[in-house]
Amino acid sequence: MSTLVSLALTNVTREIVDEYLAPFPTKLLRYARDYLYEDRLIRKIAMPERLIAQLRGYNDTYLPHFELSASGPQGGCNCGHSQPCAHFTALLLAFRDHSEQFVFPPYGLYHAVKNIWPLVFEETSLTQFIPDPIPHWMLPQPLVPQASWSPPSLDRVVRQPSLLADVHPSWLTRPDIEETIRHWDTVLMQKAGAVFWIALWAYNPYLPLESVFQVIGSQLPPAQPFILETLWTKRPIALPVERQVLATHRLLTLLGQIPDTPMMWLWNQFPEADPLYLERARLLMNDNQPDKAIRLLESHWPDTKEAQHTVRQALISWLPVPDQLPYRIADCLDTGSVLELEALQTLLSPEAWHDLAQHFNHRWRPSADA
Ligand SMILES: [Zn+2]
Repeated sequence: MSTLVSLALTNVTREIVDEYLAPFPTKLLRYARDYLYEDRLIRKIAMPERLIAQLRGYNDTYLPHFELSASGPQGGCNCGHSQPCAHFTALLLAFRDHSEQFVFPPYGLYHAVKNIWPLVFEETSLTQFIPDPIPHWMLPQPLVPQASWSPPSLDRVVRQPSLLADVHPSWLTRPDIEETIRHWDTVLMQKAGAVFWIALWAYNPYLPLESVFQVIGSQLPPAQPFILETLWTKRPIALPVERQVLATHRLLTLLGQIPDTPMMWLWNQFPEADPLYLERARLLMNDNQPDKAIRLLESHWPDTKEAQHTVRQALISWLPVPDQLPYRIADCLDTGSVLELEALQTLLSPEAWHDLAQHFNHRWRPSADA
């Protein structure tokens, strides 16, 4: 087995795997494909910098794995054959062609490996914590769903948090899930305790748990040390970047609900969770320092049109009408929104609006300009 490298350099991608596979002999690829046709590669997991799965061979089971190390991509298998073996090749082919069938490590496995990271590479860990077949709700929601998924009741979640923690993010945008959570039994929600809910959200920040935290709000102040610890403790299994950033954002938002927390300092410690400086500007607004908030946003003005629109919309929602005008005019010209243009007519002098409309038409409706 290769040396484990804890440093996540980048994520394993299909492109990296495809390039790694390029020199593999055709015969080896053929053997590997046979394993895949016979569905022998099971319990497929993708972590940001690693892949691992279980392969049911004809006589025994094996654990092929692949990782990005400081010296480049590497991997192998515990079968004892010379490497690369067909089991390892099957793992790579499966990821290259169907990466969507690889799951993020389940919540149970994540907790089991705390501080004992090599346990991920134990066969018993995989069989204990990863079901075979993998439930459809742990995988991306298909465009045409063959099977539905209903959100579990709270008493089931409390007994088995993985029922919620392991749901693939693509399922969680459905409005009925938020609705179900909103109607959970509040007594049981409180009984489960803040630490339970914080840990769940830190692992799967895509869960719509806002209503839960409204109910258990009074439990947050005593849980402050736990939230801080969760923010700063290195996780045994790294989360994919987007997931990690969202989890950090969620945790900081919870801290923001606890009085006397030094939020400006905290957001500054995790700038990736506030890339547009909106959270920090909001703190200044709430502290009655609008000029400082505007200066902060203007001195970190984003490069992309989409981000600029987001920042302008935030300013428009915070500022009194006269101060909104420059942002509304810029946004209208930048997005080509006729609705925004028309709304400005009541706020500008007739001459100013006429000028704006000319600019607008010149840019967005050249035929009307003529
Ligand atoms: Zn092997």
